[in-house]
Amino acid sequence: MALDSKVPSGPISDKWTSYKDHINLVNPANKRNIDIIVVGTGLAGGSAAATLAELGYNVKTFCFQDSPRRAHSIAAQGGINAAKNYQGDGDSTFRLFYDTIKGGDYRSREANVHRLAEVSVNIIDQCVMQGVPLAREYGGLLDNRSFGGTLVARTFYAKGQTGQQLLLGAYSAMNRQIGRGKIKSNTRHEMLDLVLVDGKARGIIARNLVTGEIERHSAHAVVIASGGYGNVFFLSTYAMGSNATAAWKIHKKGAFFANPCYTQIHPTCIPVSGDHQSKLTLMSESLRNDGRIWVPASLEDAKAIREGKKKPADLKEEERDYYLERRYPSFGNLVPRDVASRAAKERCDAGFGVNKTGEAVYLDFASAIQRYGKEQAYIKGLDANDTKLIINLGAAVVANKYGNLFQMYEKIVDEDPYKTPMMIYPAVHYTMGGTWVDYNLQTTIPGCFSIGESNFSDHGANRLGASALMQGLADGYFVLPYTIGDYLAPDIKTGTISTDLPEFVEAEKKVKDQIEKFINNNGTHSVDYFHKKLGKIMWNKVGMARNAKGLNEAIEEIAALREEFYKDVKVPGTADSFNQELEKAGRVADFLELGELFAKDALHRNESCGGHFREEYQSEEGEAQRDDENFAYVAAWEYKGKPSDAVLHKEPLVYENIKLVTRSYK
Ligand SMILES: Cc1cc2nc3c(=O)[nH]c(=O)nc-3n(C[C@H](O)[C@H](O)[C@H](O)COP(=O)(O)OP(=O)(O)OC[C@H]3O[C@@H](n4cnc5c(N)ncnc54)[C@H](O)[C@@H]3O)c2cc1C
Repeated sequence: MALDSKVPSGPISDKWTSYKDHINLVNPANKRNIDIIVVGTGLAGGSAAATLAELGYNVKTFCFQDSPRRAHSIAAQGGINAAKNYQGDGDSTFRLFYDTIKGGDYRSREANVHRLAEVSVNIIDQCVMQGVPLAREYGGLLDNRSFGGTLVARTFYAKGQTGQQLLLGAYSAMNRQIGRGKIKSNTRHEMLDLVLVDGKARGIIARNLVTGEIERHSAHAVVIASGGYGNVFFLSTYAMGSNATAAWKIHKKGAFFANPCYTQIHPTCIPVSGDHQSKLTLMSESLRNDGRIWVPASLEDAKAIREGKKKPADLKEEERDYYLERRYPSFGNLVPRDVASRAAKERCDAGFGVNKTGEAVYLDFASAIQRYGKEQAYIKGLDANDTKLIINLGAAVVANKYGNLFQMYEKIVDEDPYKTPMMIYPAVHYTMGGTWVDYNLQTTIPGCFSIGESNFSDHGANRLGASALMQGLADGYFVLPYTIGDYLAPDIKTGTISTDLPEFVEAEKKVKDQIEKFINNNGTHSVDYFHKKLGKIMWNKVGMARNAKGLNEAIEEIAALREEFYKDVKVPGTADSFNQELEKAGRVADFLELGELFAKDALHRNESCGGHFREEYQSEEGEAQRDDENFAYVAAWEYKGKPSDAVLHKEPLVYENIKLVTRSYK
């Protein structure tokens, strides 16, 4: 099957406008005759559902939490990008477009990224109108901060709780439609299969997670907004429930899965503490605005710190190695995440790590506290040489900016980050891969759309900080509502899709059979036992640094683990009740397939780009080395039964507006 990205012709800055001018529209009266299913009510699904319902479509939403308010999106901390140029620091639509393409190491589709940059400005207006309390400067204007990979301040934020506030906005918009009867919200429901009728997505099979009932739901189109699949690594910064099932089920029904190996490892997370841990915690990238990253300059000091014989404060400035500032003077601590993560790993691998396991570096706010403290003392006419006063004043400014993050750190680590530097280490955080979509955000299944983190998205091989919220809300509020209308226009006379069709019966049976199999398996090991094993393979062999030998081993080990899982997994309880072990079993079964495809994709991509770092392909300085001649394409995999049989389709990436060059942040 040829991959047609359906990018409209014309100059890049006119494509979206001209597209909107020429697509098919559904008139308001006809929208009332059309049903749309939205799976997922995080920022992407919530914003899409609210907008589609406002337009007049009948929307059914599904989420596995008890409320749309609890989607993983609520965890987003640092902010959302938009090319508003409120700071007058040289930002523009083109610059956001350029930064995103470059940040993604030239592995994303130009037209989609330009559209994203264009609509970014609308998102902020929309959210402000909804009452989202974005941070403001003293004069009342919206404030901005900087995120990695950019030289401007374009990140809008609400303290360290941006996702929560944006989600409340989308959720309020959804609630208005729930109140009007335009959205039927199905919470605590999990989509377990997609139903195709005559090759088109026409419904889903879902399990009511409270009663265990298996339900059939029909619609004229299905939108998947189910988030990312980083929990394939077991340990990650994702919400514990985040999973790949919805995306994987549509993959098995014909949706190609793109670039599964593009995963983002975030540099500033609280380090792993032990084997019994089930979750990792992010310290937002916004902290790199003010925090300086360092390790001891000498191996002796690093050892002394690890052994508790020295404290970080004992080391003078010249005894510290601010390695990001040293290696990347222009971007310093604000290099993109993939670059910062690899640099931390490199220092720790070389023996400079600062915690007991040797896998941590410092994120230090002492200079920022001093700087802000002095500024405050000048503003208030106080003594700028009073050290204690300066620290108190500076700490108050830092608390105002990042207070909740500092509090979270102290609760988890039991150390006061105002007094001693935070310890951080990279952790799995975001997946740039996902279901392949064309310009319309439609998968390779007609009528099945994918938005937000669940699609392979606009971020190429590495997402810039604060761009996931931008993409999810762009897709949901501003892109899908147009593109889906174009698809649905010929469907206005179709009428309700019956759930008695044989396709629904067959899909439901398959779902029930798998559930019965799990319940009756009587194995000896819990689901988590297998998930942890999978996570270890993924982290050790498909993680921050990959090589052909490790990837080949991972492929074999994952396939063997999958076999063992089906033979030996124990799922207690019953099928017709609230049963979280059963839910997990289905999700881990899908991770065990996705994990193998992930490794296969990483093995086939004989280059390093963005978050995909193949040890064989690096410069003398340890930087990622792309191979544009052979790999400037999106790798979209077609399901053929087993991950080992998946067939590769390529979407060549054409750069007409941005020159392909070696990425540099020096
Ligand atoms: C700690 C943390 C901080 C972050 N901070 C930022 C930030 O500051 N800025 C930024 O831009 N990005 C940030 N991100 C990334 C960003 O939060 C996510 O990429 C984004 O919120 C994903 O939104 P989404 O709507 O696509 O998916 P999600 O919010 O993950 O929502 C998925 C939805 O799908 C539903 N679902 C999934 N599977 C099924 C199924 N089978 N059946 C039914 N429902 C299903 C879930 O119930 C949920 O409603 C952060 C991520 C983390 C982990």
